[in-house]
Amino acid sequence: MEEEKKVVSEHKKSCTNCGAELKYKPGTDTVTCEYCGHHETIIPHQDGFQELELKPYLDEMGSQSHSEEIMMLHCKNCGANQHIEEHYKSLHCVYCTMPLIIEDAYKEDWILPGAILPFQFDQKKSHRIFSKWVKGLWFAPNNLKKAALDPQNTKGLYLPYWTFDAQLYANYTGERGEYYYVDVAYTTTENGKTVRRTRQERRTRWSSANGNVNGFVDDTLIKASHQNKNPIPKKLSNWNLDALQPFNTSFLAGFVTEKYTIPLKDGHLSSTKEAEGIAISWAKQHIGGDTQRVHHIDMSLSEETFKHILLPVYISAYRYNGKKYNFFINGQTGAISGNRPYSFWKIFFFVVFILIVVAVIFWFSEKQ
Ligand SMILES: [Zn+2]
Ligand SMILES: [Zn+2]
Repeated sequence: MEEEKKVVSEHKKSCTNCGAELKYKPGTDTVTCEYCGHHETIIPHQDGFQELELKPYLDEMGSQSHSEEIMMLHCKNCGANQHIEEHYKSLHCVYCTMPLIIEDAYKEDWILPGAILPFQFDQKKSHRIFSKWVKGLWFAPNNLKKAALDPQNTKGLYLPYWTFDAQLYANYTGERGEYYYVDVAYTTTENGKTVRRTRQERRTRWSSANGNVNGFVDDTLIKASHQNKNPIPKKLSNWNLDALQPFNTSFLAGFVTEKYTIPLKDGHLSSTKEAEGIAISWAKQHIGGDTQRVHHIDMSLSEETFKHILLPVYISAYRYNGKKYNFFINGQTGAISGNRPYSFWKIFFFVVFILIVVAVIFWFSEKQ
């Protein structure tokens, strides 16, 4: 293993004109100054994507060449680990809105991201998407609408994921099933008489099958943070990974970055499980026929590499009646999803209104 070199990258960049902080401008490859408009192009990483060989990282966590120190803030309320630029106006947990104390920040090692999907639109646009969505909600409490309409509540967050690549090889034993049809006699009652009829039924003829399959498993995406308290809705996680860019810390400027809390080892276990699923589906394809059974599969992975990647979401966290609600927007596609409270009184009055309408209709129809 090559000797340890710890890169400490400069997260903060100052404007050469006025000294203000430069922030990443979504949808571009520049960092810009909000005050004087000065902008600088982000130079992509020389080496391109950082696919890292998996084995050294599994053997010896914490002493890898491709890691650095990052300032982290841990949320005592929900457990999220987030990196927040110091200039961030409100130091609140992006997930649960609990205040974070800058004095609690501590330095932590992290494996540098190998790639990033930069935000494609700015906070203003995400806020417009939220507003439109919230206004369209039925039976939402009025103060929910008010809170969701406060742009302060919407923040851009980079979520951590692991992706794994590997060469898969598997031996399998199983059975191939071919369908055939037989006529089956049965009796039934027609017009009070018992009659004999026949119907076709499908049967399967099984024959044993075995063989091997191999291929490349590309970009198995595994989430790298515990989101059991703050689950990201499934329908939101449809990122187009073709748009990944080599990592550069400039993309983080002005956004919150969550640190992975699921260790690489555990992420690797999940990806191996997914690879097993892939091996089984490949084996079934290989067996052919109308239907298949796989009794035993012996899978091995080689040339395994991984990347730590960051994917963009806008989050709006909101408390209502002591309960926490989150809305999420995919920072690439603009897809929105979230859980939401219902207004008891709005539903109550709506039900009363419906009952009155029904009563009036009933009363009129009775009179005729
Ligand atoms: Zn400036
Ligand atoms: Zn929190």
